[in-house]
Amino acid sequence: MKKGGLNPNVKLKLSLPPPNEVSFAKFLTQSGTFRDGDLLVNRDGVRIVSQIDTQPPPPITPTDNQLSLADIDMVKVIGKGSSGIVQLVQHKWTSQFFALKVIQMNIEESARKAITQELKINQSSQCPYVVMCYQSFYDNGAISIILEYMDGGSLADFLKSVKKISEPYLAAIFKQVLKGLLYLHHEKHIIHRDLKPSNLLINHRGEVKITDFGVSAIMQSTSGQANTFVGTYNYMSPERISGGRYDYKSDIWSLGLVLLECATGEFSITPPVPNEGWTNVYELMVAIVDQPPPSAPPDQFSPEFCSFISACVQKDPKDRQSAHELMEHPFMNMYEDQHVDLSSYFTNAGSLATL
Ligand code: ADP
Repeated sequence: MKKGGLNPNVKLKLSLPPPNEVSFAKFLTQSGTFRDGDLLVNRDGVRIVSQIDTQPPPPITPTDNQLSLADIDMVKVIGKGSSGIVQLVQHKWTSQFFALKVIQMNIEESARKAITQELKINQSSQCPYVVMCYQSFYDNGAISIILEYMDGGSLADFLKSVKKISEPYLAAIFKQVLKGLLYLHHEKHIIHRDLKPSNLLINHRGEVKITDFGVSAIMQSTSGQANTFVGTYNYMSPERISGGRYDYKSDIWSLGLVLLECATGEFSITPPVPNEGWTNVYELMVAIVDQPPPSAPPDQFSPEFCSFISACVQKDPKDRQSAHELMEHPFMNMYEDQHVDLSSYFTNAGSLATL
């Protein structure tokens, strides 16, 4: 072998120094993004962020208007609703979690305008009792809405695991729902139109927020083309299900039915043959319009609770109380001195979705 040459038969042994995981890990953010000082690198590229060394990027706020679908990673599907699927997603650069709702909808230009309008209202709504909408897009026949992630899921999910909710918790939960309705009705002048247990979301902080208020209006304003109310008719007020004029009070009817269902563990309007369920929508409509309104059994619930339900589910909308009036109802404050802790209730009693 010539001096200085390399013998091809001799295998070079290359060894790496032992991985120093601790020191490497300190550069990785939760989402697997490599970060060193102002430099952020992940599989989507490199970014320079002007931040102080150890600070994570500031959380995104709805007014930033800076979220795009390219900036988020899908984590998992967290729900399937009547109008589409909901996924847990994570922002690539801030590691923030959001819920992404995708509604498949092939519609024409005119309807698209109505949707854009509706989504704008959605986005401008900022209230602690309404699920925050961060951004929405209409792309390729689908509406995508990036929402605040509520880690407890919906009241419908929660009810499945606890079966019933006792009055002190109900008062604390529905006080928040009423505050959300107060905001939508009296400040935003929006009728929700689709209040139901799966549209009330909860989180580990004990917060309860109304969601989906823009969506039913979108469905409505495009009904000629998108053609459908695909949700449930169960919570629809008599005046609405029978095709009459309806207003904010229609939401109050739904609120009363949702509250009663949470208290008893059962939907309160019964089909003609209870064990057979509803055979069609017409049957349900007849029951809502013609049966006396449901009520809370006075032997199981406090007079205040029974009276609250009755104030919501009057057949004539004029006889129902407004969100404003209901806030003053004695049921809202009767358990105030018990200092109900919804945070631990949601975390311990339910199966809070954890990451
Ligand atoms: P629906 O069509 O029945 O109103 P959605 O499509 O709005 O239902 O949502 C379906 C399910 O997805 C909900 O019941 C809830 O479990 C989950 N979900 C919806 N939005 C969120 C959110 N922002 N955060 C966490 N979970 C959500």
